[in-house]
Amino acid sequence: MSKIVVVGAVAGGATCASQIRRLDKDSDIIIFEKDRDMSFANCALPYVIGNVVNDRDLVLPYNPEKFYDKKEITVKTYHEVISINDDKQTVTVVNHHTNEQFEEYFDYLILSPGASANRLNFDSDITFTLRNLEDTDAIDYYIKHNNVQRVLVVGAGYISLEVLENLYERGLQPTLIHRSEQINKLMDSDMNQPIIDELERRHISYRLNEEITNINGNEITFKSGKIENYDMVIEGIGTHPNSKFIEGSNITLDNKGFISVNDKFETNIPHIYALGDVITSHYRHVDLTTNVPLAWGAHRAASIIAEQIAGDSSIEFKGFLGSNIVKFFDYTFASVGIKPSELSQFDYQMVEVNQGAHANYYPGNSSLHLRVYFDTASRQIIRAAAVGKEGADKRIDVLSMAMMNNLTVDDLTEFEVAYAPPYSHPKDLINMIGYKSQSH
Ligand SMILES: Cc1cc2nc3c(=O)[nH]c(=O)nc-3n(C[C@H](O)[C@H](O)[C@H](O)COP(=O)(O)OP(=O)(O)OC[C@H]3O[C@@H](n4cnc5c(N)ncnc54)[C@H](O)[C@@H]3O)c2cc1C
Repeated sequence: MSKIVVVGAVAGGATCASQIRRLDKDSDIIIFEKDRDMSFANCALPYVIGNVVNDRDLVLPYNPEKFYDKKEITVKTYHEVISINDDKQTVTVVNHHTNEQFEEYFDYLILSPGASANRLNFDSDITFTLRNLEDTDAIDYYIKHNNVQRVLVVGAGYISLEVLENLYERGLQPTLIHRSEQINKLMDSDMNQPIIDELERRHISYRLNEEITNINGNEITFKSGKIENYDMVIEGIGTHPNSKFIEGSNITLDNKGFISVNDKFETNIPHIYALGDVITSHYRHVDLTTNVPLAWGAHRAASIIAEQIAGDSSIEFKGFLGSNIVKFFDYTFASVGIKPSELSQFDYQMVEVNQGAHANYYPGNSSLHLRVYFDTASRQIIRAAAVGKEGADKRIDVLSMAMMNNLTVDDLTEFEVAYAPPYSHPKDLINMIGYKSQSH
């Protein structure tokens, strides 16, 4: 009977422990979680703030008791792993209820500590970040008890955009600032124009190339020289991996604190695995390392690690495609493949179409902008991006499947679309990309 210790009880950690239990009824599995909650739906949090998602039981389906009853896995919340001794195969844990420290032995150690929000570090009571349900509760409480109206959202990554939309839908008055012109960085910058249009259509104020230089009470001073009053500030300025506690061990971290893993999600130390936002891995379709801090990767790794430890050890990860998607008011922004900033490392060509998402005569149509980048020599698809009110998710998911199978841009002519007027075209946008690429 193995002793399996897991660090982090949310997307990667709780999923991996559950997957191991599915395959192995006997091992002793214990998860240490430094914060209050386990296994909550991180991706739901912006929608909880907007009151779009109201059922707390669906967002937080487990507590340690329920989890143990269902899976016989022990979860210790408010227990932080502060160091790892990989020679002795132990972790040192602090129980934050009692401040007591103890060592726990492991046969296998699984690290899924995720990432923390970067902070602007102003000494202020009105600044918040959003990473977990405690943060969500704190934001909600502050809004309710402080008559919050004007909220400054700092940063325009996908979480900030979701938060801004949800604050607006809740009836508050958000303002967005971003320190450069490069908003929503996973999307091609010229395809982000609908973000600006959606803001302007709703009279939501925004400023690019803007930063906070000081916060004094509710008075905020900006780099531009402007001074404005806000009731609350939500900082969405990126994250860093939670790997400080690993530094004293022999586990190799890169210079940004990420753990680099192999295709079995093993670290450089036998029997120690890592997954989720803390790892770097590689792309599936091109020869580049990458870090994709999104939920699919954590779930896929959880299954593969469980197979390694408790099942079929021949299963390996084939790499990321980097699929991602965000809703911003009426629009969807989705892409797959290398990031726009990585394109310069390739000799590529690009084909795009911008036309109705479904048959033009059928009501409710809106235009969909679809763009595919392919390697000039091999003609393999290296990136695709789609922006529109309808059908962006479908096109990117189809192209993700194409990329998973190393299809070329020319192969897209053969994609047999499920067609009826409300959904697509007999010659779909994806087919059009294939036909258009023939002149390249
Ligand atoms: C607001 C928000 C919205 C998101 N929306 C999406 C989305 O729409 N789509 C998508 O694909 N992804 C989304 N994500 C990203 C996704 O949630 C993460 O990629 C995923 O949760 C990563 O899983 P993880 O296990 O690595 O980290 P987490 O799920 O963050 O879990 C890590 C846990 O480890 C704990 N921990 C850290 N250090 C220690 C320690 N030393 N000892 C004990 N416990 C420790 C932390 O407290 C944390 O609870 C979103 C994330 C957030 C915050």
